[in-house]
Amino acid sequence: MYDVIIVGSGAGGSAAAYGLTQAGHKVLLLEAGPRFNPATDYPLTNSDWELSLFPEKKGSQGKYTFAPMQKLEARWQHLRSKNSLNGYLSPGDSRIPSGIGYHHVRGIGGSTLHFTGESHRLHQQSMKMHSLFGVAADWPLTYHNLMPYYNQAEKLIGVAGITNISGRDYNGSSLLPPHPFSDTSRILQRGAEKLGMHWQANNRAALSQAYDGRPACNYCHNCNRGCPRGDKGSADVTFIRQAELTGKLQIKTRLSVLKLENDGNSKISGVLCADSSGQRFSFSAPIVILACGALETPRLLLNSADANSLEGLANESGQVGKNFMETLSWTSTGLSNDSVQTFKGLPADGICWDFNAPDSVPHIIGGCRFSSTTAEADLSGPVNYARRLVKGWGAEFKDTMRQQFGHAITVGAIGESLPNDRSFIALDATAKDEHGLPLARINSYLPETELRRLEFMAKRCNSILHAAGMTEVIESYGSYDFFSSTHVFGTCRMGNDSNTSVTNSYGQSHRWNNLYICDASIFPSSGGGESPSLTIEALALRMANSLKHLVE
Ligand SMILES: Cc1cc2nc3c(=O)[nH]c(=O)nc-3n(C[C@H](O)[C@H](O)[C@H](O)COP(=O)(O)OP(=O)(O)OC[C@H]3O[C@@H](n4cnc5c(N)ncnc54)[C@H](O)[C@@H]3O)c2cc1C
Ligand code: SF4
Repeated sequence: MYDVIIVGSGAGGSAAAYGLTQAGHKVLLLEAGPRFNPATDYPLTNSDWELSLFPEKKGSQGKYTFAPMQKLEARWQHLRSKNSLNGYLSPGDSRIPSGIGYHHVRGIGGSTLHFTGESHRLHQQSMKMHSLFGVAADWPLTYHNLMPYYNQAEKLIGVAGITNISGRDYNGSSLLPPHPFSDTSRILQRGAEKLGMHWQANNRAALSQAYDGRPACNYCHNCNRGCPRGDKGSADVTFIRQAELTGKLQIKTRLSVLKLENDGNSKISGVLCADSSGQRFSFSAPIVILACGALETPRLLLNSADANSLEGLANESGQVGKNFMETLSWTSTGLSNDSVQTFKGLPADGICWDFNAPDSVPHIIGGCRFSSTTAEADLSGPVNYARRLVKGWGAEFKDTMRQQFGHAITVGAIGESLPNDRSFIALDATAKDEHGLPLARINSYLPETELRRLEFMAKRCNSILHAAGMTEVIESYGSYDFFSSTHVFGTCRMGNDSNTSVTNSYGQSHRWNNLYICDASIFPSSGGGESPSLTIEALALRMANSLKHLVE
């Protein structure tokens, strides 16, 4: 029998599995997606490597729907995505989802298989957005409560980087040396410094030296397509690998949890799942942990409504699915005249934190950061150059291609996403999955404050390119007209007050004593552009530590 059942094996579920198995607990991990093998599933040496953003396997993408999206307005026309070859990129007069919309992977390791691997700690003030700035909600714990778990997660993954980052205390950390700057970052540093901005090494879950039986990074520039060497600190090769070594972890793949059952009082009594053929199974354990991500965790709770919880399980506060925060992002691309090869090097290796504090963007609450994003803009290979950047036909085209390939430089910004009443996850009234359960429906709205922050981010990105010597922005892409989210949060917010939050600071449901949540849905605020996985992992390790007493 198991001590704990964990549902979902992404950043949160994997770190919880690690913490609990290290403490001697027997853990059953239920994962809807398949297992990927880095050596065989990430074929970067095949001729068609550029055609997919991340290799798909059967069952590795979830389904969801969108409510009708925001109308676009003439006054924000300058925030529409455009390309100098193809013009405006979004047709029509409404915001639309980009190709994928919610970028994620279902599989052992979850979305960390696809992630870039930026490993950020939150700015301390970002955890007190309500008491300091009157927006969002405060975290029910402090940065210093989380600090030992940040240290533990960084050490386990093998984060390479620096500790002199404003707004953070790195006492007790042990990072690997930072990576050398790529061509992209060297040029962006030149531009940023001309504007008086500080350009630093970004903290990255990519090994700068051999570590933990894994090789150092070879700077192939393709972290988002899956790292074939296994040096990127995705959850499968770090937390899961270590948890499996204890012999205490049993993993079941391609098994979707459909519903949680309860005893009508204060306990979750069972977990109902189904495999892809529809066959159903039930499991039970003293503790149940949800880590399905900020879309699927609220969906599972809402789909678990019954006579004891009419509005959805653990939804006594009415906050399940509410406070949805998405990725507010912008990228600007230029062509450098320098002799460079920007298709290689570590992605997102340089960053500017100057505007990350919640009050550092002039006249707008909520911070942002700027980083090198040529790889995330998917300008690592010739196909995208040809489609998006190169004019002409025949001999002229070939000449331009030879001259331009390797010269694209993209700078990106990610900003705070504050909760608002019109951004939430609900159950779709008609669309259902293969098991007959309602899909999650994304309701997304960007209010004026978000658009003004986005405007600041866009202007700064363009200024950095210009200061770095690029005369023309040849492509810009942002959240105003495209919903394109890699970071999603907030839909089961944690807090001290059971009337306004779903869990306490350990992710424990205020009502159901043996139910915990440890994914990005418990974030009360998003941070000023920090990437979330390290914080999710630190929260999961803290939660696992609080459950140590189970076997003592
Ligand atoms: C392209 C891209 C780049 C990114 N870059 C970065 C970065 O550089 N740094 C960073 O920190 N973050 C980055 N992120 C975001 C990061 O990957 C996610 O924030 C993080 O993985 C979220 O962790 P999670 O545990 O909340 O959910 P996930 O990692 O998404 O894991 C959820 C898991 O739960 C499983 N699941 C869902 N429903 C069920 C169910 N009913 N039954 C069983 N299993 C279920 C899913 O299959 C999935 O495996 C990036 C993401 C993408 C897509
Ligand atoms: S750049 Fe480094 S970490 Fe990223 S996929 Fe290539 S080898 Fe792996």
